[in-house]
Amino acid sequence: LQCQSLIAVITQEQIQQLLAARDNRHLITSFYFNTDVTRRPVAEQKIRLKDMLQAARRDLEGREATHAQRESLLGDFGAIEQHFVAHAVSNSHKGIAIFSCSARKFWQTYALPRGVRNILIADFDPYIRPLSMILDEYHRFCTVVVDRARAQIYEIYMGEILDRSEAFTELPRFSSRSMGQGGREERRFERHHEDAVRRHFHRVARFTFDIFQAYKFDYLVVGTHHELFYEFERHLHPYLRARLVGNFTAEPGVTAPAEVLAQTMAIETKVEREDEVRTVNELLAKVDRQDAAVLGLHGTLTALQRGAVQTLVVEDGYEVPGFMCYNCHVASVDDGACPHCGGEMTVCPDVVDEAIEVALQQGAKIEHIRTPTPLRERGFIGALLRFKS
Ligand SMILES: [Zn+2]
Repeated sequence: LQCQSLIAVITQEQIQQLLAARDNRHLITSFYFNTDVTRRPVAEQKIRLKDMLQAARRDLEGREATHAQRESLLGDFGAIEQHFVAHAVSNSHKGIAIFSCSARKFWQTYALPRGVRNILIADFDPYIRPLSMILDEYHRFCTVVVDRARAQIYEIYMGEILDRSEAFTELPRFSSRSMGQGGREERRFERHHEDAVRRHFHRVARFTFDIFQAYKFDYLVVGTHHELFYEFERHLHPYLRARLVGNFTAEPGVTAPAEVLAQTMAIETKVEREDEVRTVNELLAKVDRQDAAVLGLHGTLTALQRGAVQTLVVEDGYEVPGFMCYNCHVASVDDGACPHCGGEMTVCPDVVDEAIEVALQQGAKIEHIRTPTPLRERGFIGALLRFKS
């Protein structure tokens, strides 16, 4: 099976491209906007956007910038407004993110699965923290809804659901209604029926395995009648059983896709919170036995400078002003010369944001911690390292 997902997937490559777009000459506009119509109707959103862009144009007048930089930003603002107006009505997403640099014809848009704070920032650096948080929060789910005779397979990612059942070619249709008159005939029928159910489960499990690998899902969820769950689960490949993170009551052809989506997303939230706690526990345990991990801002930034970070673990909302050498991608809490090039470092309002960007550039995973964990008492930030220091 060679399959291409139709759901717009935010990839690590896109983010890397975005981060690579920075230089010391051009300003990039980073724009986040809440487009959730249940929160604010489109007409009101348009007014908000106009206000935001007007404020940005006013700020630009008082700002130190070259003529070319100014022209590029004005181009960005115009393009963002045009894009919004063109897509506002058809848009079904809860938020959008746009990164633009007109001078270099750089333009990226992201449809977001949840609302974001409205932000417009023009800087040398793209502001990617909200995007990175969303990327960390969502995983690719495969949800199988199955009963004794039928099955439906869904792909779920970033709040969207796609029915993959069409890819099912040989779905057996087996009626479970009893037709025997009792006695031997009925027992024979039951045996025959149980065999058919077993074959059906086996086939669904095998197909799920194929589709799971083809679409590179992260997790599996099963929707079925409670009493069928363990019976079906037995047929799953060990690889799938290890990725099975939840089940709920559902029936193929009866349970609406919206309900399947809601149930899967509730399981996803639980999985993500558990993941956060597990990562923090792993981090703290490793730090305590002086294994490959660091805790605290200073240690984490030093590890980043050495390119040693595998997973950056950071408390949601943690911000600290600091210094940055944009030539070497070095973030620091200390004033003074860059440890790499010896050049002067630039003051930056939030060195944690810079650390997240540097980590992403190095191909590290970012784990944003939203749930209360002991990390709050132990420095708000840390990192699992690629090797022992
Ligand atoms: Zn430097």
